[in-house]
Amino acid sequence: MRQFFRLKDLGDLRKDYVLDKFVVVPAADQVTDNKPPSGNDKCPYCPGNESMTEPALLALVVKDGMLQRLSDSEDSIIDDWSVRVFQSKTPVVATSSSASYSDKPLYSEPAYGYHQIVVASPDHKQSLSQMSVEQWGNVLVVIQDRVRWLYTQKSVTYVSIYINSGAGAGAQVAHPHLHIVTFSTIPPVIEMEAEGSHRFMNENGNCPACNVIAVESSGPRQILATDSFLAFCPWAPTYPYEFWIYPKRHITSFSKITQKEINDLALMLRATLGGMSKVLKDAPFNLVFHLSPEKKNSRQIHWHIEVYPQLGTWSGLERGFGVYVNNIRPEKSAEILGSACRKEFGGLMGID
Ligand SMILES: [Zn+2]
Ligand SMILES: [Zn+2]
Ligand SMILES: [Zn+2]
Repeated sequence: MRQFFRLKDLGDLRKDYVLDKFVVVPAADQVTDNKPPSGNDKCPYCPGNESMTEPALLALVVKDGMLQRLSDSEDSIIDDWSVRVFQSKTPVVATSSSASYSDKPLYSEPAYGYHQIVVASPDHKQSLSQMSVEQWGNVLVVIQDRVRWLYTQKSVTYVSIYINSGAGAGAQVAHPHLHIVTFSTIPPVIEMEAEGSHRFMNENGNCPACNVIAVESSGPRQILATDSFLAFCPWAPTYPYEFWIYPKRHITSFSKITQKEINDLALMLRATLGGMSKVLKDAPFNLVFHLSPEKKNSRQIHWHIEVYPQLGTWSGLERGFGVYVNNIRPEKSAEILGSACRKEFGGLMGID
């Protein structure tokens, strides 16, 4: 189980003996706490409890239909926010600078980076799968703002964005929120996707994801298509009911998507998460943004979102060998999810 530690000091990012696998370990004098926060405590992400978190780096306020990007100052807390971003109090990485590098015989570097929390709604009970399309749009505007800002910071090589929804998916706070964690190195999964993508591009002259989009559009694994996005269950899914969302046009940078695409993605996310939560009865899930490392031209990928419902636990085969046994064919899960997601979509568009 994950430990909940408070980083006073920077932890280490240790590399495996031989594999390109990284693990964050706490600093030597770190106090660790195995107890998750108790459910009876006041929610630190709720309006009125802003002083329980770090000051807002960004508080998005909607006023007369206009979005205002504000932040807390020493003597004033913005209290009428719609989306709020602040530094995590239990960060995985930190920007203090006391840890050191080691190379031989074993590799370790400081776990340097930013860990920010994006509170997706002032409403504690709001679920991400039922949130309004407009509010999803506000969240995406904030994510784009953060991605742009973080890539201007030194030692930010990669910006990871993810959601843990439900305790079974690693959420420590019930209030709807997202995580943004940066690294000074490219995470292994992105490195593998970029490497595979690069190889395919060299051999075939085009982007593999663009090919996938052509293959999955209106095929048996498609679940929903909007103007700019396609959602489908992948050919070889790791998790039951796993699905991916890709922009139809070839684009590697989330920073560069347009407001129109943000609005369309908000609709796509709301419709697919809404459909999924109906089918899977609000099962816990993780959602990850696989974006390109914006400063590394040789490591670009066609950006996308992957959603992993958490319905069971892994066995020794998955944990020990990386072979995944899925109990539902993706063609079947696409049929079930597709019908629920298209129904949600129809409801949101006012066509039943
Ligand atoms: Zn709350
Ligand atoms: Zn592409
Ligand atoms: Zn991916």
